[in-house]
Amino acid sequence: MNINLDPSRDDLPLMANTSHILVKHYVLDLDVNFESQIIEGTIVLFFDSGNKFRKKSSSTEETCRPESNEACKFRMLEPCHISVTNTRTFSSKMGYNDFAICGKGEKDTSGKDGNHDNWKLASEISSSKYCCDTGNHGSEDFLLVLDCCDLSVLKVEEVDVAAVPGIEKFTRSPKLTVVSELRNQIVRELVTLPADRWREQLDCYARCSQAPGCGELLFDTDTWSLQIRKTGAQTAPDFPHAIRILYRTKPQGRSVTWTSDQSGRPCVYTMGSPINNRALFPCQEPPVAMSTWQATVRAAASFVVLMSGENSAKPTQLQEGYSSWHYYVTMPMPASTLTIAVGSWTEMKPETYSSNDLAAERRSFSPSEADFRCVGVCGHVEYPCRFQNASAATQEIIPHRVFAPVCLKHTCQETLLRLIPPCLSAAHSVLGTHPFSRLDVLIVPANFPSLGMASPHIVFLSQSTLTGRSHLCGTRLCHEIAHSWFGLAIGARDWTEEWLSEGFATHLEDVFWAKAQQLAPSEAQEQQELRAVLRWRRLQDEVRNSPEEMQVLSCLSETSSLGPRSTAVAVATEAFILPPFDYSQVFGIHNQTGGKAAIQESSPL
Ligand SMILES: [Zn+2]
Repeated sequence: MNINLDPSRDDLPLMANTSHILVKHYVLDLDVNFESQIIEGTIVLFFDSGNKFRKKSSSTEETCRPESNEACKFRMLEPCHISVTNTRTFSSKMGYNDFAICGKGEKDTSGKDGNHDNWKLASEISSSKYCCDTGNHGSEDFLLVLDCCDLSVLKVEEVDVAAVPGIEKFTRSPKLTVVSELRNQIVRELVTLPADRWREQLDCYARCSQAPGCGELLFDTDTWSLQIRKTGAQTAPDFPHAIRILYRTKPQGRSVTWTSDQSGRPCVYTMGSPINNRALFPCQEPPVAMSTWQATVRAAASFVVLMSGENSAKPTQLQEGYSSWHYYVTMPMPASTLTIAVGSWTEMKPETYSSNDLAAERRSFSPSEADFRCVGVCGHVEYPCRFQNASAATQEIIPHRVFAPVCLKHTCQETLLRLIPPCLSAAHSVLGTHPFSRLDVLIVPANFPSLGMASPHIVFLSQSTLTGRSHLCGTRLCHEIAHSWFGLAIGARDWTEEWLSEGFATHLEDVFWAKAQQLAPSEAQEQQELRAVLRWRRLQDEVRNSPEEMQVLSCLSETSSLGPRSTAVAVATEAFILPPFDYSQVFGIHNQTGGKAAIQESSPL
């Protein structure tokens, strides 16, 4: 399974087998060490092997023929839900034709009702069970495959959640005497707690994650995956539903970048890697495996830890000059959206006015259309959704913070700080409820390869956006804010269709920015048309004058042929058929994000 990928051409292989078992929650507990450039600690995964899976797997079991070990390994692969960009190259490299890759034209179209849930999707991917003969007593153990790359896995163990004091209340069926069944039953109850008990659920996940281990599990790693099994656990429902992995990252791992900030101090951050977070933590990458997470991250006390969590974490001082930071999310998201940045950044505060004053001033500009929208009914899995929360719906400006190296303090105060409230407010006046409850903006190191990147609750901005007048900073900020809706709350299921969210965000940056500047309608239209002409010229120039591999806008050039590019289009067309500027209806289908939802920008326009 050592696949050589050409990052410019191939998509990532999706190794995780999500048909029978899905990660519902990750608990990360990590130490960041700048001397060794290693992040080390544990991750506890909580699984659900839902009822639908159990029924399905029993009737369609498939076992390995006595072939070579390698063949056996390949059979354990899931048919990919996400297509591989260059299928032919990819499969011939692997030299194994049983590896089922969904071609672009054969993907499921379950998105057409705009209301698909994880289980349905997952069971549509594959209904057959892939087993591997372990060679141990002729048994066929269920093999859990996680996406993982460049991690040193030190130990994998089952977690004895039954040992957590007070956990008994999570077992509806006290008759269970087999202790492994009891443990799995506890996790099943825990992962299916109703959304209004999210705090209790988070707390239980945290306590369970610290429960003692109750047996090491067998594991193996290769270039793209971590494979785990428990002797005698032949089906996903039998497999431990809470496992702890001890691991450390490698300095050369490509999920995070170790570098220096503009003040020359060390920092590390996820900068939208082509391999997503696989070199940061083992995960289920296919977007059907949407999950929540919580993380405790420790670093020397001089560092600030920022994450894509929904809480604005404050440090807890530990002994010996270390601090710990705790973040969490309650909205299930693909593992690729988890974002972290650790550095000696300073929170930027306004110098002469409070941002609230400006916000209040701006708030008067127009009665918001959003006020008339009713609080919607959502079709996604249950979680504490802001679209169903009346007070969230009227919040024009969400709490926000700005972090940057101290040497950029003046520049941030001059431009960025005063732009955030009007841009957030403008976004709310056009689209209504902010999908995320807060926003951190981080000015990232100079080697950041693009102008901005949006993740849940956090936006990375290049310092280039701070130069000149407020125009570049304002439009870029509007663009990244728009990605909270398009690209994060909803998105193409297939990340080769990223241009869809780019298209919406690029369009909306003009709409938001015109509102934020309080332009008259005629001025706004003039500005928008001018920018559209510039973009069109630039695209034409690029297509005419640059070789294909150099075309940074090439994804946008596909907008003219919406034809046969499959399911993602099916999801997105629901948005496309809306009347102009009525974005409210898409909210019913939010949170169906596909794949790499941390959106990277490279267009300077
Ligand atoms: Zn919702």
